[in-house]
Amino acid sequence: MPEDGSSSQGGAAFLDIAANLATVRERIAAAARAADRDPAAITLVAVSKTHGIDRARAALTAGHRVFGENRVQEAYRKWPPLRAAFPNLELRLNGPLQTNKVGEAVALFDVIETVDRPKLAAALAREMDRQGRRPTCLIQVNTGAEPQKAGVAPEDADAFIAHCRDDLGLPIVGLMCIPPADEEPSPHFALLREIARRTGLSVLSMGMSGDFDVAVTLGATHVRVGTAIFGARPPPPTG
Ligand SMILES: *Cc1c(COP(=O)(O)O)cnc(C)c1O
Repeated sequence: MPEDGSSSQGGAAFLDIAANLATVRERIAAAARAADRDPAAITLVAVSKTHGIDRARAALTAGHRVFGENRVQEAYRKWPPLRAAFPNLELRLNGPLQTNKVGEAVALFDVIETVDRPKLAAALAREMDRQGRRPTCLIQVNTGAEPQKAGVAPEDADAFIAHCRDDLGLPIVGLMCIPPADEEPSPHFALLREIARRTGLSVLSMGMSGDFDVAVTLGATHVRVGTAIFGARPPPPTG
């Protein structure tokens, strides 16, 4: 966006995004206090997928530093210039990762939240050795056992976590889930927390714009919020 009089649109977006970030942070803090949790124990991940670089930059200018993206290609178009300007930002992959994109993902992301199958885990381990770069990883759990959704099945989670940690030596720090859209999210968040407890993992990435308060109540350490910060997403291109 040019820095001239025509950028009033960008100025408006800046004001909205800063205000939205403040509102979401306040809601996180309120939910944390109500649950007797320290608000500082919860990290807000701003999910900027599909939004242009200007909106991401507005959030950075407002002081935000932790971002989530869903697609490796899109993140490569958007984030290298932003990282050059804001070297201390953290970039998290929270969309499905194909094995043929593992090299790019390891090079770009600081955290990969969607490790969910042995072939992907093995490819990540190989690539981390090759690059000497070790983004921390979360295991995605398909808590609703939805056939079309990514994530390891809850009943397979413990064995898969052990395989990733102990056999492959991946830096697994926690779990991530996306509850079914049409269900009450609490049981899913509670299940994720229980799997993390029994496997000794401390990071819980759960909760989005519609339910992050609930997720905080149930122990989320990271909430992934897009719409409530950046506004509605443009519809995906067709064809
Ligand atoms: C898009 C997305 C989000 C953010 O969703 P909103 O409802 O816009 O807050 C969070 N997590 C994942 C994995 C997503 O794909």
